[in-house]
Amino acid sequence: MQNTVASLAQQVIEGKPGHRLVPALVGRSGNVQTVWIDCPNWCVLDHTTDRSVFIEDINHEGERRAMSFPSAHGETVLVEVYVSQWPGSEETQPYLAVDVDREVDSYGRTAAMALADQMVAFAADVRRLAQTLPDDSPRPALSQADEALRQVQADARGWQSLTGDDVASLPIARLLKAFGVTVVDADVEVTELHGMPGRMELRVPAVATLQAREADARRLLAHHVGADLNAEANQ
Ligand SMILES: [Zn+2]
Repeated sequence: MQNTVASLAQQVIEGKPGHRLVPALVGRSGNVQTVWIDCPNWCVLDHTTDRSVFIEDINHEGERRAMSFPSAHGETVLVEVYVSQWPGSEETQPYLAVDVDREVDSYGRTAAMALADQMVAFAADVRRLAQTLPDDSPRPALSQADEALRQVQADARGWQSLTGDDVASLPIARLLKAFGVTVVDADVEVTELHGMPGRMELRVPAVATLQAREADARRLLAHHVGADLNAEANQ
């Protein structure tokens, strides 16, 4: 019966990509309800066996991989890893849970070599699970030296060689210098750009904020390098 309900619900309600809609038990004993939740495809938990008091307490767990070290007290699990996610917590993204038991043991050569083989196999498991996590690598930033060089090169080339990216990102003072722009407060409704590169006048409404002046200047100058900053911003 539950299977029929589950398959019907899956047909009617489109779940999140990479997830399936599964039943979960929620509530205090005596007032337990079945709710339908998005469960990631890698989750191996049965959400109808472990009841959560609140829906925020529902978590997902992937398959477990463990590395056991032989010890004097029999087999001891030292490291266990699995993908874990708590959608109702502050950190909602999946992460690799690394469960470590601490114990100090001594290994002979043969045991140590066997241990090394185990660790290599375990490392492959950890790598495979890590590759299923969302990409969290920081975007490489231009170093200050790279940025300074880029600005010097832009100055030397003159306005003809500036790109739309340059117009959007170079410091505004350098940009105005490259195009030979003089900025004047004027009795105008909207910002106007007059003249040709090398000798230009940007007429701005006296009430315009600094940010608005800068944005207008970049937008109008972009036309002279064949770029449309509005189009880029709208993409
Ligand atoms: Zn789940």
